[in-house]
Amino acid sequence: MSAILFYTLFYILMSGCIIYPPTEFVSAGVTIKDIFSNWLGSENEIFIQYHMRRSVITLFIHSILPFGYVFGLVVFGHVDTNILLDHANLWTIFVTCTLLMPLYTLYKILVWSMNNWSTHPIPQNLAIYCNSNNNNNSIPWTTVASDINVEYQRIDKIIIATNSITSIVATDNWIIKVLPYKIMVAHQSDTALIVNRSDTHEMSPVTRGEVQFINIQVKPTRAGSQPFDIRLNVFNFKNLQDKISRPITILQNVKFHKTLLDKFIDNFKEQIQENPYYEYAEELSQCIGCMQASSNVKLHKQCSNGIGSENPDACMMCYCRPMWCIDCMAKWFASRQDENAPETWLSSKCTCPVCRARFCILDVCLIQTV
Ligand SMILES: [Zn+2]
Ligand SMILES: [Zn+2]
Ligand SMILES: [Zn+2]
Repeated sequence: MSAILFYTLFYILMSGCIIYPPTEFVSAGVTIKDIFSNWLGSENEIFIQYHMRRSVITLFIHSILPFGYVFGLVVFGHVDTNILLDHANLWTIFVTCTLLMPLYTLYKILVWSMNNWSTHPIPQNLAIYCNSNNNNNSIPWTTVASDINVEYQRIDKIIIATNSITSIVATDNWIIKVLPYKIMVAHQSDTALIVNRSDTHEMSPVTRGEVQFINIQVKPTRAGSQPFDIRLNVFNFKNLQDKISRPITILQNVKFHKTLLDKFIDNFKEQIQENPYYEYAEELSQCIGCMQASSNVKLHKQCSNGIGSENPDACMMCYCRPMWCIDCMAKWFASRQDENAPETWLSSKCTCPVCRARFCILDVCLIQTV
């Protein structure tokens, strides 16, 4: 009995890894698209056809998984074949279903393949973008497909893998979401993009800090088109925005940091708020960084770092008058940090842009005029 249980758990686990491959499987190249790569052809050259094949094979492999379980049970002798074939018990119903699933899928694939695949979900989705007065002999969706293929071949396209089974592609004119069984397409010219949600998660192994995701609603206005959502890490937002010719609307109640720098500036300001104010009696000049805001911070050593010691990394007193606004100081601070270790930025040091005195975040004070 425990052998069956073990086999069942193992099979469920393996099936899970096939349906939703973990990074280990992806990097080892044991995913459906890697295994069938010869048959699928080149994604770069025939993007649409590649994904039609990939979706068909994915659907078929998934549909055959339950049957594989029954097959394994019989092959490894866990279950007596007579019980399986015995009439009218639950097993028989289960076995019949596992057989029907791949058969039905095969039938579905056969139906799609008639008429040059024009009834397959991907061509159906593309057909929406055909100009209807196009009555020549070519099959309508193939013109759209070849347009997308050509754009996909350009090197300036953007591909964002949102997880191991979905990715977002932005080409010059198209936004495409690649899913296991289909792809969703929208032409940028008649599509509204709306950031409608953001969510923050603590501790991602990659950034070692918080990680923020946003949800973008992609709403094509074409008749018959389907809206879809794309969810991505906020740090991919700017990449995507640069590639999209239309403005991306951000709903008012959605707050997120578009870049690492944005996020740092906010954190920096929060920290500075907790430091004591620096009292200053003279008139404040314009910030020499942005020439817009008036200067509002002063570097004033207050940390206990290096007092009375010869520590070469100790903070120093800066005697410069206030010349910077807090935003510019935050940007300057960030610009002097190790780009690859953002989690160390706040605890690192920087030097005064003018006198080069070393300071830490505790030494940056907001100014209180007296
Ligand atoms: Zn400034
Ligand atoms: Zn200074
Ligand atoms: Zn300091």
